[in-house]
Amino acid sequence: MHEKTYRGIVASPGIVIGRAYLLDRRKVVVAGRRIEDVSVKDEVARFKKAVEVSRAQIEELKKRFTKGIGKSHLYILETHIMLLEDKMLMDGTVKRIKESLLNAEGALKETINSIGLKFDKIEDEYLRERKHDVEQVGERILRNLVGHKQESLADIKDEAVIIAHDLAPTDTLMMRKDKILGFATDAGSRTSHTAILARSLGIPAAVGLENITATVKTGDVVILDGIHGVVIVDPDEETFLEYLKKQRKYKYFEQELEKLKDLPAETLDGHVIKLQGNIELPEEVASAADHGGTGIGLYRTEFLFLNRQTLPSEEEHYKAYRHVAERAAPHEVVIRTLDVGGDKIGLPGGFEKEANPALGLRAIRFCLQKRDIFKTQLRGLLRATAHGNIKMLIPMISGLPELYETKKILDDVKAELRAEGKEFNEHMEIGVMIEIPSAAMIADLLAREVSFFSVGTNDLIQYTLAIDRQNEHVAYMYEPLDPAVLRLLQRVSDAARQANITLAMCGEMAGDPLYAAILLGMGFRNLSMNVASIPWVKKVVRSVRMQDAVELSALVMQQPTAVMARRTAEHFVAERFPELSAEL
Ligand code: PEP
Ligand code: MG
Repeated sequence: MHEKTYRGIVASPGIVIGRAYLLDRRKVVVAGRRIEDVSVKDEVARFKKAVEVSRAQIEELKKRFTKGIGKSHLYILETHIMLLEDKMLMDGTVKRIKESLLNAEGALKETINSIGLKFDKIEDEYLRERKHDVEQVGERILRNLVGHKQESLADIKDEAVIIAHDLAPTDTLMMRKDKILGFATDAGSRTSHTAILARSLGIPAAVGLENITATVKTGDVVILDGIHGVVIVDPDEETFLEYLKKQRKYKYFEQELEKLKDLPAETLDGHVIKLQGNIELPEEVASAADHGGTGIGLYRTEFLFLNRQTLPSEEEHYKAYRHVAERAAPHEVVIRTLDVGGDKIGLPGGFEKEANPALGLRAIRFCLQKRDIFKTQLRGLLRATAHGNIKMLIPMISGLPELYETKKILDDVKAELRAEGKEFNEHMEIGVMIEIPSAAMIADLLAREVSFFSVGTNDLIQYTLAIDRQNEHVAYMYEPLDPAVLRLLQRVSDAARQANITLAMCGEMAGDPLYAAILLGMGFRNLSMNVASIPWVKKVVRSVRMQDAVELSALVMQQPTAVMARRTAEHFVAERFPELSAEL
């Protein structure tokens, strides 16, 4: 058989070569059937028993993971236990048994399907993914109803690359790193719990491969390239050798990077750079430190608004922020206020769908209109400042009036809290995201009003070059080294330096080792990124001299096109860091 390549979504980096183990995760086939009136009581009892067995199984898993690597991910099991108490799932099933006279399996299956349909209507990818949690819990109850034992990853004896239709986070928690080389699944996305877990456990993974389970058999040789989200089945000799080389190089480099974990991010000539993590879920905070980061440079709070019908309460905001601040201590946490709209989660509360959401009622614009929602968040955030080093970051500021208004609301909230005798840090620093070209143009004016800037290149590039960051047809134009983008960055850096305020970057550009030296040369001393990128960027930081970085950035800035600027940057990296460069 000739090699076959599958391309999917990058879930967790690394390269592994091994034998496939096809994990049977076919759904339990259940027969829905009508029952007699007299059997209703028994069916309800049977269903409740299966729920109790499921709960006991999850509690058992919890015990196993209270220690060791799984510890920080117990929240997934908690979510599953919560679902076992979920009204829609539990009462919905009982109601179907009673009213539609269905057996427990049929009633549960219908209930899962109807909850699934509700999730499908949700546009947000992260929230849609949570449908999987419901399905996984439902599958567990179904298996317990029909007495079907699921194959467990803990039972796998030989090293293997797991190939499955989908994996539950609990599967991922069961993975023994000495046996499970990596995994590849038909389903999944970057934001599924399983992908998040794989990244923090350091297990290479590719997801969203669509139909890989249709052709792979247990025992097939597979190459899993988690850096590019690719799986090659039955590789040719040439491909095999090529990947063997890549794998060795990658492993060696990873080991080298691991050694940097506790070393400072300091240039050869002693400039200390702050490298921090971007997080979306409070549980991710530990992983920033595990990768050698010093604090959280961007905590995207919109995730608090997901997966629910009601808005988060002040208490929920407070608890989440306090948790993150306490876990990140002694380092700081930069909490970004709500950024809804655009490509993110939909606008809560009866707003019409917009024709042009990226240019619409997004982030601070929304918060200034829905002040009650904003104030609730600000109250929770301010109260959390009593428990750690918290800074507040405002997204999508386009001009001074928005900033004045925001500060006024913040002052009102502070006055309220003071009057109520609630504790908070009166001197919490506030900063603005620089992610709209107008903000970059008036950076000097904004700098007088805040204590730090955080540049959001994901949006800054989108708005500067007029390319939708979501649209694959114009993705080729999405170029951080475009001269227009670089000039804006330099302008922002100059304004920050003149006003003597902190300059940070938290867009994806900050986490790419190719740009690290350029950014240092331009004056950035604080880079916040996806946690897995921290060691890579640290490697660059620790290997350059500031003078070289300044010269490189000047050279890159002189290039008339993005292509030429990129070539200049690549040349520099290839010369200095051949192990980092393109091949990987
Ligand atoms: C950005 O725009 O670069 C940014 C960090 O914010 P987000 O990706 O959440 O829009
Ligand atoms: Mg943004």
